[in-house]
Amino acid sequence: MENTCGPVWVIAEQIGGRVLAVSLQLIGHARELADELGTSVEAVLLGDQLDEQTQQLFAAGADRVYLGDAPELAFYQPEIYTEIVVKLAKERQPEIMLIGSTTTGRELAPLVAARLKTGLTAHCIDLVLDENKILEQRVPAYGGLLAIVCPERRPQMATVARGVFPTPELDENRTGEIVPLDIPEEIPGRIQTLEIIREEPEGVPLESAPIVVAGGAGAGDLEGWRKIADLAKALNAALGCTRPAVDEGWAGLETMIGQSGRMVSPELYVGVGLSGELQHMVGIADAQVMVAINSDPHSPVFEQVDYGIVDDCREFVPVLLDKIKEYQEKQVTC
Ligand SMILES: Cc1cc2nc3c(=O)[nH]c(=O)nc-3n(C[C@H](O)[C@H](O)[C@H](O)COP(=O)(O)OP(=O)(O)OC[C@H]3O[C@@H](n4cnc5c(N)ncnc54)[C@H](O)[C@@H]3O)c2cc1C
Repeated sequence: MENTCGPVWVIAEQIGGRVLAVSLQLIGHARELADELGTSVEAVLLGDQLDEQTQQLFAAGADRVYLGDAPELAFYQPEIYTEIVVKLAKERQPEIMLIGSTTTGRELAPLVAARLKTGLTAHCIDLVLDENKILEQRVPAYGGLLAIVCPERRPQMATVARGVFPTPELDENRTGEIVPLDIPEEIPGRIQTLEIIREEPEGVPLESAPIVVAGGAGAGDLEGWRKIADLAKALNAALGCTRPAVDEGWAGLETMIGQSGRMVSPELYVGVGLSGELQHMVGIADAQVMVAINSDPHSPVFEQVDYGIVDDCREFVPVLLDKIKEYQEKQVTC
């Protein structure tokens, strides 16, 4: 097929040889965009001792994989990775470049965009082509969705969190071309990742939890926050949060749910002391049953949930905890 424009790129990410789900999801979506544009999907994969990982990228929809496989790429190195991606992008002229909103992607994407003198939209929750085949990069803003476009510069760059797009069905019969990359001999080394120490996540993982309790600014202080954490524990739920809980230092950024955080799809979501801002709510769009506890009867959160409890969470949650404990004790003695 004769390509009518540059390829759609995905900067794929792997950790310890495991390709991240968000990279496969982006390739799946890139495939749809590329088919609409009449072009190909190309992935860039950097790391050490990579072999069968390329097949996963083909199975997800990539036509070509640029593979940088070298010991010095074992860990994400901002300067080397940027150098490689920028050099290759200048040669290949991709139309679109998609990167996961991961810790690495959030750093790499702006570094690359600045060097290519192009625009970048962070934390998109949808990507579609408009009637002129320009990428609409959709983000929540002003209580609705804003479509950001980059009509003049290329590539059109966006970061997207895991779970925004579905994981494509992998077609193990699909194959493609592997293009090995030369690793630059002169590697800038102002910043070097020497080792990665992984923190073991506490409690139930957010993305796979059947029940999620999320706390917000309404917790008031650390003591109020601890009660919400106790509620999550009592329900055997994963504990998530809104941005203010991170800003206050009550919760880690890795537990923030929403546009710039995690996407969750629990059977039950309980939002405590939060207002239901779209930037948070897009992260729980797939929850089955939603409950909110808020002291303001006019809070917009109540328009978005199945069950609303109007009360001060600092008073209501301790009472609820007592009731849960009572119920659980009864179950044990029965
Ligand atoms: C580009 C961008 C990206 C963002 N990404 C995210 C994201 O990924 N995730 C995210 O969460 N936010 C994100 N935000 C921030 C988001 O816009 C909101 O500011 C945030 O979600 C609000 O958090 P909140 O509901 O906890 O706080 P508030 O909006 O301040 O709401 C607090 C609520 O608590 C209630 N309340 C107060 N006291 C009590 C009490 N004692 N008992 C019960 N209820 C009480 C109040 O009535 C109020 O409704 C982003 C913002 C931007 C601009």
